[in-house]
Amino acid sequence: MTATLDQVYQRLANAYGPQHWWPGESAFEVIVGAVLVQNTAWKNVERAIENLREAELLEPNTLFEVPVEELQDLIRPAGYFRMKTARLRNLLAYIVTQHDGSLEAMFGLGIKTLREDLLSINGIGPETADSILLYAAEKPMFVVDTYTNRVLKRHGWIEYEADYHTIQDHFHGSLEKDVALYNEFHALLVRVGHLHCRKTAKCDACPLVDLLPEAGIIEPID
Ligand code: SF4
Repeated sequence: MTATLDQVYQRLANAYGPQHWWPGESAFEVIVGAVLVQNTAWKNVERAIENLREAELLEPNTLFEVPVEELQDLIRPAGYFRMKTARLRNLLAYIVTQHDGSLEAMFGLGIKTLREDLLSINGIGPETADSILLYAAEKPMFVVDTYTNRVLKRHGWIEYEADYHTIQDHFHGSLEKDVALYNEFHALLVRVGHLHCRKTAKCDACPLVDLLPEAGIIEPID
């Protein structure tokens, strides 16, 4: 059964209600979290961010001054700590050298320019860049994650070959450009993904089950 993204959103919103999802207490925490969450669960990121908070390092210039080995120790709970330290420092170098450590100045860039800048930083891919744009800069950029990819493809709402930007264009072309809507929709997709649309789909009792094609789930995924 085909469905519009509006219908999918309504179905998920009715099932789960408001998600109140904002990954971080400040814009800078969101930025740090967007790098640390690569290949790990959010609870591990929270432990790493808590270490940074306790050390009073959650400010761009201050964090950039921290010696590499010390930063590695602080973010160790998030896993891949050497790689993530390098990526975080690349991002911090951009904020500090290009914007004097001011997130306000950085967010003052146009959405296209800021996205291009972020994507030019070694270790920052589209999902991380778009998480920063949506959740920290509050710009209307839809974040496509593994769950979004799965849900759309398993239902046949987008071709299996569709890449990140094709899926993102589908959302941008179908929905009003609205930060709160993009935020909420992404959170709802993560919710249905956690609860049902895992590697092995648990379609029973999923709020989207009656929107599957007649022949059932479309595989393969990932
Ligand atoms: S679990 Fe099944 S019904 Fe639910 S979103 Fe995934 S494929 Fe669709």
